[in-house]
Amino acid sequence: MKRNLNVRKLEKILKLMRKEAYRRDAPVFRKERIFGKDPFKILVLGILSTRTKDEKTFEAGLKLFSKISSPQELARMKTREIEKLIYGVGFYKNKARILKLAAKQIVKEFGGKVPENLEDLLKIKGVGKKVAKVVLAQVFGKPYIAVDVHVHRISNRLGLVSTKSPEETDKILEKIIPDKLKVEFNRTLVGFGQTVCKPLKPLCDECPIKKFCPKIGV
Ligand code: SF4
Repeated sequence: MKRNLNVRKLEKILKLMRKEAYRRDAPVFRKERIFGKDPFKILVLGILSTRTKDEKTFEAGLKLFSKISSPQELARMKTREIEKLIYGVGFYKNKARILKLAAKQIVKEFGGKVPENLEDLLKIKGVGKKVAKVVLAQVFGKPYIAVDVHVHRISNRLGLVSTKSPEETDKILEKIIPDKLKVEFNRTLVGFGQTVCKPLKPLCDECPIKKFCPKIGV
């Protein structure tokens, strides 16, 4: 499938996946309903979410955003207070420190606005490629694919790639997926991975794309 990518077929598959993930209320869609498309909030949630379950990330985000709503306010908040608000996410002490530094940097270097390009986003403390690309695609509608474990796993199961690591998958997907499908790619595969094509027991019998899927490695 890598060399002869059938774009129309892939488009149809992605549509079916998105519809099913939405119907099953995947956390990735819930996140949007709760937090909207504010770039600052999505960036903060991205930092909070590493090694943390979605529910805990949302809980921490809700508490934090009940007190602050801008990088300026977060930059002024005491680290101890941030720690209390985000308690429950993995490495909360470290993340509190990083959030404050990131907020300060956004205020100082980017005029209080989350930058809209990859290069500048990657300069922000705590922001890696995955978080940066989520912000670019989900908030700014730019053609980037953030590759996390869901995107890596499902791309391999579908035979889009044959790779051993998310980093490798990232490089190949950036090349083979047309720009028009990149914007929704992460959201769709993450939502589908959270609800249907799960890591350990994928729901292949109930899967709306089972007739297209070679189930590689399942
Ligand atoms: S058929 Fe199974 S492996 Fe393939 S996408 Fe559906 S759930 Fe995943």
